Amino acid sequence: MTNALTRLLETRDWLLADGATGTNLFNMGLSSGDAPELWNEEHPDRIKALYKGAVDAGSDLFLTNSFGGNASRLKLHGAEKRARELSRMSAEIGREVADTADHPVIVAGSVGPTGEIMEPMGSLTHAAAVEIFHEQAEGLKEGGADVLWVETISAAEEYRAAAEAFALADMPWCGTMSFDTAGRTMMGLTSSGMVDLVGKIDNAPLAFGANCGVGASDLLRTVLGFAARGPETPIIAKGNAGIPKYVDGHIHYDGTPDLMADYACLARDCGATIIGGCCGTTPEHLEKMREALETRPKGARPTLDQITEALGGFSSASDGTDGNAPAARKTRRGRARG
Ligand SMILES: [Zn+2]
Repeated sequence: MTNALTRLLETRDWLLADGATGTNLFNMGLSSGDAPELWNEEHPDRIKALYKGAVDAGSDLFLTNSFGGNASRLKLHGAEKRARELSRMSAEIGREVADTADHPVIVAGSVGPTGEIMEPMGSLTHAAAVEIFHEQAEGLKEGGADVLWVETISAAEEYRAAAEAFALADMPWCGTMSFDTAGRTMMGLTSSGMVDLVGKIDNAPLAFGANCGVGASDLLRTVLGFAARGPETPIIAKGNAGIPKYVDGHIHYDGTPDLMADYACLARDCGATIIGGCCGTTPEHLEKMREALETRPKGARPTLDQITEALGGFSSASDGTDGNAPAARKTRRGRARG
C-alpha cells in the first residue's frame, strides 16, 4: 500500500504539521458558537488563507477545516444533512493549496469526535458511530484528501469506530487523542493504553499520537509515555501553544513562537516524527518551529525536568501510567521516569 504520507515519511526524519484551526479562524472573524465548516462554502477564500498560512510557514501537512463536520456535530447548527458535502469542500480547497505549494504537502482530512458518549457508558452505538465517521470519510476522500486524520478523541471505542469507518472508505489514516485529564484522556486512557490500542486495532493508522490537551509540557510527557513502549508506528505531537488565559475577554495562549520552537525540537527528541501545534499555534509559531527543526540537531531523549525547565510545569504530578487514578493523586510524589 502506498500513499503520499507514507512516501513522504520515507524521505524525511520529521514532518512539520500545521497549527490551530479554531484560533486562526477566530482571528479571521469567526464567532464562537458558529460552525467553522460552513465557511468552506461561505468564505472559501478565508479557508484557503488558513491552509496557505501553514504551508507558507513551512508545514508539510495540514488538516482540513472539517473537525466538526460530522452529522452529529453539524446537527447543532441544523446542517446534519451536509456532512459529506461540507467535508468534501474542505478537502477540495486543501487540494488546491497543496497542489500549488512550492514543496510537497499532505492534505489530511480532519475528523473530530462525534461529541456523544458511546456505549456502554453512553447511548451512541458502535454501528451509528461508524456510519457517522464513514459519511464524513467519503466526503473528504471525494474532495481529494491524501489521508484521514481523526483528532481530539477521548474514548478507545470512538477511535476504533473511526478506524473501521476509514477502512470502509478505503483510506489511510492517522489518529490522535487528547490527554487533558491529569495525563489521561477524559475517558481515562493513558499514553501506554493508547499504544496497546493502536497495536491491536484492525486497519492500523499510519501514525498515532496526542493533540491539544493542556500545555506543551504535558503533551511531551505523553509522547515520552508512547516512546517508552517502543511502538513501530510513527508518533504525532500536536501540542497547544502554552496554556489558555483570558485576556480582555478572549482566550489567549501564552506560548511564544520561541517557546514553540523549543517544544518542536523537544518533541522530536522525545520520539515524535510528525510535529505540529494545536490551539493557539499561528503561522508565526510554525515558522519558528520549522527553522528550529531544520537548524538544531536532534538531541537525546529529554528528562521530565528538562521539559519543564524549557516549557513550564506539568498540570499534574503523574501522567497516570503509574497505575494511579487521577483522583488518588493529592500530593506531589517522586516521578515514575527520569
Ligand atoms: Zn487544540
